[in-house]
Amino acid sequence: MKISKRLLKIAQMIDRNKVVFDVGSDHALLPCFLVMNDICDKVYAGEISEGPYQKSINNIEKYNLNGKVIPVLSDGLSKANDDVQVVVIAGMGYHTIKHILDCCDVNKYEYFIVQSNNDVDKLRKYLSNNNYTIEDEAVVYDDFYYQIIKFSSKYHDEYDYLQIKYGPVLLKNKDEEFIAYLKYYSEHLKQINLKANKDEYAKTFKEIQEILYN
Ligand code: SAM
Repeated sequence: MKISKRLLKIAQMIDRNKVVFDVGSDHALLPCFLVMNDICDKVYAGEISEGPYQKSINNIEKYNLNGKVIPVLSDGLSKANDDVQVVVIAGMGYHTIKHILDCCDVNKYEYFIVQSNNDVDKLRKYLSNNNYTIEDEAVVYDDFYYQIIKFSSKYHDEYDYLQIKYGPVLLKNKDEEFIAYLKYYSEHLKQINLKANKDEYAKTFKEIQEILYN
């Protein structure tokens, strides 16, 4: 089976042989992929809505993964079993992700992989305010630049302004995808700043130039 570059990157950030709970699994594509590629033996495909939950069941049957990919009708992690080690929350907005995190005991899990479709800086601020540790980060281009964050509940001092805005691991590693994203973003800011002449855009543009060229 083929999955998107975004979901593939998420799959690559999951260690082998973990019991994973994919929150908001929709078609259960990520859980099916993890089992079919021997990354996991057991993955829960959680869904809040009946329609996507049924689609998950259809895919599990289609790929013959009964008992290995387990569909769960659940708001966030409310129905998660005690054997879950790793949680994925992807393809949703910041407020939904925050709701899911607020309603669970984050300490119960080894780590989370989160990918918000918007307000990634607000998500990092939330993690920072809770003194969680951002363990890893990735940028992936899949018709749009997505940022993926792996975090754990291990204590970490609050992150600073630049780390929250751009990502502590991304800033440290400055890998190819991150640099490409910054170049794309600064070009975009240049265009809108010329039109809107907003100080805030100019400030972000300057920050990005410093990250790129200093
Ligand atoms: N996770 C997949 C991905 O990244 O491609 C699917 C993303 S899909 C856009 C978002 C899914 O999350 C929808 O199927 C929606 O029903 C589900 N969802 C939204 N809020 C949820 C919640 N609180 N608990 C579980 N699922 C939720």
